[in-house]
Amino acid sequence: MATTTTAVTTVNHWIGGEHVASKSGRNGVVHNPATGEVIAEVGFASAEEVDRAVATAKAAFVEWRATPLSRRTEVMFRFRELIVKNRAQIAEILTRENGKTTADALGEVSRGLENVEFACGIPNLLKGGYTEQASKGVDVYQIRQPLGVVAGITPFNFPAMVPLWMIANAIACGNAFVLKPSEKVPGASVLIAELAKEAGVPDGVLNLVQGDKVAVDRLLEHPDVKAVSFVGSTPVAKQIYETATRNGKRVQALGGAKNHMVVLPDAELAMAADAAVSAAYGAAGERCMAISVVVAVGDVADPLIDAIRERIARIKVGPGSEPGIEMGPLITREHRDRVAGFLDKAAGEGATVVVDGRMDGAASSEGFFLAPSLVDHVKPGTACYDHEIFGPVLSVVRVGTYAEALKLVNENPYGNGTAIFTQNGGAARQFQFDAEVGMVGVNVPIPVPVAYYSFGGWKSSLFGDLHIYGPEGVQFYTRAKVVTSRWPDPGVSKVDLGFPQVR
Ligand code: NAD
Repeated sequence: MATTTTAVTTVNHWIGGEHVASKSGRNGVVHNPATGEVIAEVGFASAEEVDRAVATAKAAFVEWRATPLSRRTEVMFRFRELIVKNRAQIAEILTRENGKTTADALGEVSRGLENVEFACGIPNLLKGGYTEQASKGVDVYQIRQPLGVVAGITPFNFPAMVPLWMIANAIACGNAFVLKPSEKVPGASVLIAELAKEAGVPDGVLNLVQGDKVAVDRLLEHPDVKAVSFVGSTPVAKQIYETATRNGKRVQALGGAKNHMVVLPDAELAMAADAAVSAAYGAAGERCMAISVVVAVGDVADPLIDAIRERIARIKVGPGSEPGIEMGPLITREHRDRVAGFLDKAAGEGATVVVDGRMDGAASSEGFFLAPSLVDHVKPGTACYDHEIFGPVLSVVRVGTYAEALKLVNENPYGNGTAIFTQNGGAARQFQFDAEVGMVGVNVPIPVPVAYYSFGGWKSSLFGDLHIYGPEGVQFYTRAKVVTSRWPDPGVSKVDLGFPQVR
């Protein structure tokens, strides 16, 4: 066990615009994954504490939904400015609690910020439709209204960006929000909530409950929670979707992934190798859009593996806060050991471990490190292929043809992201047409959509009908109302028991 040398802070709930300590008596600890030290304690919410957050949000919703759009927009602009001003501080918390490098953490803040910028355009996004003279003297129009109290449950790997995917649109649309951040990385969302208050988000409109399944279960059954956005692993996403929909809530539950990068024989080799290495080992492979399988088509496999191996040798692994470090540790010791376990199994399953991250010196430190690893000759039906590894282990599957590569992509139960590397526009277009995956990259390995499109996978990578953030996010956090209106001339009014006609 690592010894604690840093001051241990306590992370609280944020309810009604202030820090609220948990009285549940249940706690968790937050580690610095680079050192193994315990750096914070986090009080886990009881069902009663969740009820308090939801009641506070419900009360705040009344005025917030009536707040003019111009004022809500002004608040979103200020929120945007404050995130920009504090981006280094947010990034520092991300590195400390999650382990990602400073550069990667700053990138995460930028991608989260995009969603706030999108929400600054909320007056335009909430415009409805108007039909004049649908019948004689009758007009019909559609408006979109907020739902009320909406909840978000977020994973450990993007402690700032994923909450911002949800918070920005949810509150700009006029909802009140209750977030349950990952208990492994609770700090960034507290700072984000403080900045939202400073920006003018009224107390109670944005609340945080720290905790685990107890808090989540209460949110899923609470009658005043109208919608749930979840991002995390597939088994939990499925369970959240089933429970919350059974309780009558609108749900979008984004799950795990197994993203394939198909490399055709005509691909620009150096570019494909750069992309595979960046997308497989960035954030230590703990991205839901990380590339975890390279599908090498035809004779590209040998030169591609050589090029990837060369690049791996140059990756600098270490504490994310140190200058020049390119890859940090994994989130917990248990997770690091689980990921290393895939390498233990690979050889016995007929694969070849080309680069073994367990052999790197970093793995023996107190931090939760595992260096980049590369496994060749991986096949469906083996542990490396069948599971979401969520760590710095890249598998290579060798196939003979494009059709075999496509079959792998389409038969995989996940459908989050995929990419094709080729110089042939026709082949790329065909792949875009054929792939049964929600987000496709053409010579782009991590095709996370910009904030004015929406993010979402297919198959076991998303349960629900609407993707997250962007235009579908606005749709998710609002419901339509259609008004049919007549302002007749009182002089021509009469009783008419017939069914209303429009012609
Ligand atoms: P996780 O599913 O373990 O946890 C996600 C959230 O759910 C956390 O807040 C956690 O406290 C809560 N939770 C965990 N178990 C629960 C349970 N049994 N009942 C109720 N709530 C529970 O995921 P994680 O380990 O934090 O994150 C990694 C996973 O998230 C990976 O599978 C990754 O692919 C996925 N992910 C997906 C996306 C996406 O957009 N599709 C984005 C980021 C991460």
